[in-house]
Amino acid sequence: MFIVLSHLGCLLLLATGLSLEAAGWALALYLVRMLATTAIYHRLITHGSYRAPKPVVWIGALVGASAGQMGPSWWKAHHLAHHRHVDTDQDPHSPLQPRSGLQGFWRSQVGWLLQSSFFPERLPADVEADPVLRLIDRLHFLPLLALGGLSYVLGGLEWLAAFCLSTTLLFHGVATVNSLAHLAGDRPFLTDDMSRNNGLVALITLGEGWHNLHHAFQWSVRQGYGVSGGRVQRLPDPTYAFIRGLERCGWADRLRLPAAEDLLARARP
Ligand SMILES: [Zn+2]
Ligand SMILES: [Zn+2]
Repeated sequence: MFIVLSHLGCLLLLATGLSLEAAGWALALYLVRMLATTAIYHRLITHGSYRAPKPVVWIGALVGASAGQMGPSWWKAHHLAHHRHVDTDQDPHSPLQPRSGLQGFWRSQVGWLLQSSFFPERLPADVEADPVLRLIDRLHFLPLLALGGLSYVLGGLEWLAAFCLSTTLLFHGVATVNSLAHLAGDRPFLTDDMSRNNGLVALITLGEGWHNLHHAFQWSVRQGYGVSGGRVQRLPDPTYAFIRGLERCGWADRLRLPAAEDLLARARP
């Protein structure tokens, strides 16, 4: 519902226009909330690819919820189902099953959120055991509404429209990992699915587009790896750089990285 509203809110731009300041606000909200989705929701809460103190997890999850990506329990439940059933008809958002082509693309980008399976059958026990994360999960819409309210207070209707634009672009940006990163790009690593390394998706999702690596090494804190000519390539991964920054501040540790020989052992011949 909120994502539909944020699409409609973009129409406000026709009346307000978009100044440089408001565009900067939209961009800043996009980058910060994308990082919370990729570094906290995905790589930390879902895959445990590093550790962080509780306050970092909680603040990160709060910012993640403000992205309109639902709460951490909901997000992790669906994402683990994707990994478990990847590219089969049990996959919540495969662009290839049960239908491919345009219908499959639509399902992976948007349509899967309009199905009855929107509510996961089981919620992850570890997230549910944390009372703060559980509260954020149930009240996930409050940070999103609060950020919309703050945008309006700071810059009136124009900044509210910029917030809607940012939220809409963020929604579709994250969704490209479900759609494009299973449809187009290289497959340097051997996996049992159609995941791909896609540079465009990596650009708009701050590193999550190296999705073939992610399916091969789900626990790797860095997704920016490829293989070319028998050698490991290090690919741009701003989310990984951000987590390294957290580590330097003492807010992250035990970053899990595959060794070069592990990467090469999994490389497609
Ligand atoms: Zn995938
Ligand atoms: Zn994942």
